[in-house]
Amino acid sequence: MWSSSAYIEKGHKPIPLFTEIGFTPKKMIFSCIDGRVNPEELLGLTDADAVIVRTASGTPARNLSDVAAIDNLTKLTELIVIKHTDCGAVYMTDNQIRAHIRTHNPDIDNQVLNSVVLGTTHDIVERTRKDVELIRNSPIIRKELRETASGLLFDITTGKLTKIM
Ligand SMILES: [Zn+2]
Repeated sequence: MWSSSAYIEKGHKPIPLFTEIGFTPKKMIFSCIDGRVNPEELLGLTDADAVIVRTASGTPARNLSDVAAIDNLTKLTELIVIKHTDCGAVYMTDNQIRAHIRTHNPDIDNQVLNSVVLGTTHDIVERTRKDVELIRNSPIIRKELRETASGLLFDITTGKLTKIM
């Protein structure tokens, strides 16, 4: 059973409301759900600087409407996709994931199964380019924002961050 009492006893401080802090411009960053990678620490970000969206492989494919929503609320200044070496996305394929889904949901409709958006790849650099292209070609994202979208690759061994595009 989940409880917040231990968290509150540790000293939770009230989080400022939007009416107090306003809707300040932010970067929006797509990063992998992998717990080994911490984009806040890597880019030296604070809550006030950025909206971080963590998805499997850091793909923005399932969250492009979130970009429009956040941009409407707090004008975005930059969109960044950060991928990392040794990502789980290179250890599986779309077909394996679809087979897993079908095994556990044998009655699934093929059209529904095929509409599942995945971020697997055998080439993380190529996948970074494709995900940035996805943003740049999105008709629902503000023009200046999508045109300046960038993609970075974090090497988890060396700590080096490389701009892919
Ligand atoms: Zn990953």
